[in-house]
Amino acid sequence: TSVKDSEPSPTYPALSYELYPPRNAAAEDSLWTTIRRLEDTRPDFVSVTYGAAGSNRDAAFTLLRRLLTETTLKPLAHLTSVGTSREDLTEIVDRMIGGGVRGILALRGDMPEDAHPVPDEVEHADGLVRLIRDVEAGRTAQLAAGRISVGVAAYATRHPESPSLEHDVEVLLAKEAAGADFAITQVFFTPSDYSGLVTRARSAGVTIPIIPGVMPLTSTRRLEKLSSLAGIDVDDALWSRLDGADSDAERRRVGVDATVELARSALEEGAPGIHLYTFNEHEAALDVLDALDLERPPLAGLPASL
Ligand code: FAD
Repeated sequence: TSVKDSEPSPTYPALSYELYPPRNAAAEDSLWTTIRRLEDTRPDFVSVTYGAAGSNRDAAFTLLRRLLTETTLKPLAHLTSVGTSREDLTEIVDRMIGGGVRGILALRGDMPEDAHPVPDEVEHADGLVRLIRDVEAGRTAQLAAGRISVGVAAYATRHPESPSLEHDVEVLLAKEAAGADFAITQVFFTPSDYSGLVTRARSAGVTIPIIPGVMPLTSTRRLEKLSSLAGIDVDDALWSRLDGADSDAERRRVGVDATVELARSALEEGAPGIHLYTFNEHEAALDVLDALDLERPPLAGLPASL
């Protein structure tokens, strides 16, 4: 059959995982067990976090290089602008492109306490998106087989420094205007947080896909740590359910069930996919995936006739 005669290609929800660069050799070993298990689920991409002000730059580059050379996975490299000069950011983006990275998540990051501001800092994430697009424009030959896909952060609950949810979507619109292709949300705990963000964003004129980021939280300690890191309120209902569970297995079930519920409702609202924050562990992420039963593209990939 010719391409013209064949059925239109079905679209599948995007599936991705977030990993962070390991801090030592033992963590690296266990991360690689996780990576291999996640690779079996054929995600569309895996994202690799980046310490603000470049605190773990080498570890991030090592992980990106290994993902590109030793796996079938496509990495999305996070990059933060705080505490880094334009010149250094340009060099980092250049190194990423030269090393084969084709997806970058452009973030401002949060200034670490021990970091020093630099004079020509890129103040907000939209400026970093523009910088990446500028570097890209000068690398046409290296990018002949595909441009850089640039993602940005979106917030389903108010960013801690933002005056309002409306301001947050104005910022998202500015990131899209600067050249962002898609957004991934910060963790949220209530289904209506995601649908509310999408409604506000669309009425403000944002057209890029907004992928919900969900995280299986399997202990009260982890929930509290995440809330303080992300500057979001601890979800009382989830905290109580985790606190009331009397074994690790039960806590894992509570965390997985809550994540599945969020992901399912986002997909029903038309979410383009699911991004799973993994904490570098595969068990809970795979439990979520099993329960969601997400449709994945056929293993064979492109039909031979193409
Ligand atoms: P911005 O979009 O620059 O926003 C920061 C603040 O400035 C917001 O309050 C916004 O309202 C305001 N603002 C933005 N633009 C303007 C403007 N033009 N005028 C006025 N105000 C403005 N952090 C890391 O350090 N490493 C990571 O790898 C990392 N990965 C992340 C992945 C995801 C999916 C998400 C959602 C967050 C991630 N973060 C990471 C955290 C992120 O760096 C923080 O949330 C940070 O506080 C804001 O980053 P941003 O890119 O959203 O910044």
